[in-house]
Amino acid sequence: MADKLSAVKGMNDILPPDSARWEALEASVRDVMRLHAYRNIRTPIVEPTALFIRGLGEVTDIVEKEMYSFEDRLNGEQLTLRPESTAGVVRAVVEHNMLYEGPKRLYYMGPMFRHERPQRGRYRQFHQIGAEALGFGGPEVDAELILLACALWRAIGLRDVRLELNSLGQPPERLQHRAALIAYFEQHTDHLDEDAKRRLHSNPLRILDSKNPAMKALNDAAPKLLDFLGSESLAHFNAVKAILDANGVAYTINPRLVRGMDYYNLTVFEFITEQLGSQGTVCGGGRYDYLIEQIGGKPAPAVGWALGVERVLELLREQGAQSSEVVPDVYAIVAQTDFLPQVLPVLQQLRAMGVSVQMHAPADSAAGMGSMKSQFKKADSSGASFALIFGADELALGQVTVKSLRDGQGAQRSEILADISHWGHSLQSPL
Ligand code: ATP
Ligand code: MG
Repeated sequence: MADKLSAVKGMNDILPPDSARWEALEASVRDVMRLHAYRNIRTPIVEPTALFIRGLGEVTDIVEKEMYSFEDRLNGEQLTLRPESTAGVVRAVVEHNMLYEGPKRLYYMGPMFRHERPQRGRYRQFHQIGAEALGFGGPEVDAELILLACALWRAIGLRDVRLELNSLGQPPERLQHRAALIAYFEQHTDHLDEDAKRRLHSNPLRILDSKNPAMKALNDAAPKLLDFLGSESLAHFNAVKAILDANGVAYTINPRLVRGMDYYNLTVFEFITEQLGSQGTVCGGGRYDYLIEQIGGKPAPAVGWALGVERVLELLREQGAQSSEVVPDVYAIVAQTDFLPQVLPVLQQLRAMGVSVQMHAPADSAAGMGSMKSQFKKADSSGASFALIFGADELALGQVTVKSLRDGQGAQRSEILADISHWGHSLQSPL
């Protein structure tokens, strides 16, 4: 046998039965997005590297050290596996002139790639679900997006995620704060770690986003952006808070919350849990009113969030959420391979009625279908509610035996194949 190959470090296979949790989450997302009139967008996984450098900012964790970038071997183009999706969505919106007809509410789901140290809740291929509202400048859409996330938590039964809120103000306010921040950190240069020293003059706000616990005390005492906001920025922030209050959404203000990308302004927020150790942020987002322009579009405001699917599912599991097992309604037991041409159309008819059917099939066709006993065993372990038994006697009479596998008694009855439209539906489990 050839050597075994394994998946790339930090990139996970999602296997059954666990994949059922993913499907359930995705189904809830589709429902909640439809209820809020957000429509699906799907953009490529590979984008020009320049999109992320321009979009996320040169001095960010992602662009500095986390991107999977490579050169197209034919034309030398610099390409990157997307580390997040907002930049790609904005590129698509600009490229297809989507805001021409008015603002857009969009959502996406898919894999993202970041070269990080793999640990619980932190992978190199991970998945995000995100919502973006483009072309809206008012605080009510910031609030709508937060309420949308809360609706999703309710729909999937997620508890105990707390909302943190901050405002990053507008560029002139940021500039004033930046000067104060540099002055402050310059007084404490011996307490700065390597990243912070490097970022002191290039992007001091990023120092506040540090994951280094040794930087915490220093960051906690740093000048707060909130204290530099002018009246317009404050009014926007207060309006978002008022809508959340009116909707009974609890939050805390975290003046230290800056988020990992440079594109944010005004409202930023994170949903955080204490139940996942240090990878506690399950969802983060905010307003990015200057990104569209930066990516070459006509200036337009926008706001959005992204959640980490692995973290959300891990938290659900941590909270004891059960996933419903995916089992067929019916397991078809077929006495001989040469009955299959006659049996298959019956199974197709059942499926067309919404009955899920697993057909017994031999691993090795030379060995035939196997004994009825071994087929019954497989039917039992499949989790199906019923076995349909296609034996020689049944088929000779144009009949099939329906045996209940879950009632404890194994009740059996005969049904006429020609009358399938009458009894077929009774095999379907209630959804
Ligand atoms: P963190 O501070 O944990 O590194 P981040 O600020 O880099 O997160 P965002 O870029 O805001 O994260 O992405 C939104 C969400 O995606 C995060 O809140 C998290 O749930 C998830 N996420 C980000 N990076 C990873 C990763 N490497 N593995 C798994 N999930 C991730
Ligand atoms: Mg990160």
